[in-house]
This record gives sequence, structure tokens and C-alpha cells, in this order.
Amino acid sequence: MKTDEILGGKLLREFNTISAMVQIYCRSHCAAKGKVDQCEHCQSFLEYAHTRLDRCPYGEQKPTCNKCPVHCYKPHMKAKAKEIMVYAGPRMLLPHPIMAIRHLWSERSPVPGKPPAASSNRHIRLNKGQSPKAST
Ligand SMILES: [Zn+2]
Repeated sequence: MKTDEILGGKLLREFNTISAMVQIYCRSHCAAKGKVDQCEHCQSFLEYAHTRLDRCPYGEQKPTCNKCPVHCYKPHMKAKAKEIMVYAGPRMLLPHPIMAIRHLWSERSPVPGKPPAASSNRHIRLNKGQSPKAST
């Protein structure tokens, strides 16, 4: 985990959930079995997921990815995400019951409509310390 973590709140919880799923997936699918947290492919997938969360236009309002109307993942990353979720999702309950239940719970909450303007974590992060623009 990076020490200069830029995500917070719901986005960070979501990233931690994805990290746990990637670990479960990687341990049984990749060459690096048991040696490190994840292999370099899964590591770069996680970095990609981290960037997408940072730039998610919903920010803290984010729905779960598989219900989200915005398709922000590149097709091959989306395919990998799906593979990881399908494998690791059902295997989350024993090692990470709270994360798993929270994730299932948010799957059931309604999907918000159009993303609100300027709500992504990245936008808020980059605008911190600057004079706020007049918004409508
Ligand atoms: Zn891996």
C-alpha cells in the first residue's frame, strides 16, 4: 500500500476490497503464488483500478462498478476485473466478512443518475488549496 494514499472514505474502502479480491485471485491463478501480495500483472491492474477510482466522476457517490452506467475501464481491464470478481467475490466472505457484506449491501443500493459535476476524488484533490471556482 502506498503511504501517500490519495483516496479516502468510500473510495478507499472500495480500493481495499478490490485489493483483497486481487490477492485471492492472484494466489491461485498466477505464478507468484504465496511469495508476494500479487504478481506484476495483478499489481498493474490494481494501480489501474486505483486511478479509475480516483477519477470516478461519482466520487463519494460511487455506485458499485458492475452497476455503474459509466464504462470507464478499458475493455481488457474490464475483462480482467470481471474474471477477478467472479473468482474472488464468493471467496471473500470467510477471510473478509465485513468487506464482503458491505459490498453486497452497496450492490443493492440504487444507482445514481448522471454523475454530479466536479465530484471525482481527483477533481477535489487537485482543487484543494486553490480558490474555489464559482459554481452554479
Ligand atoms: Zn497475479
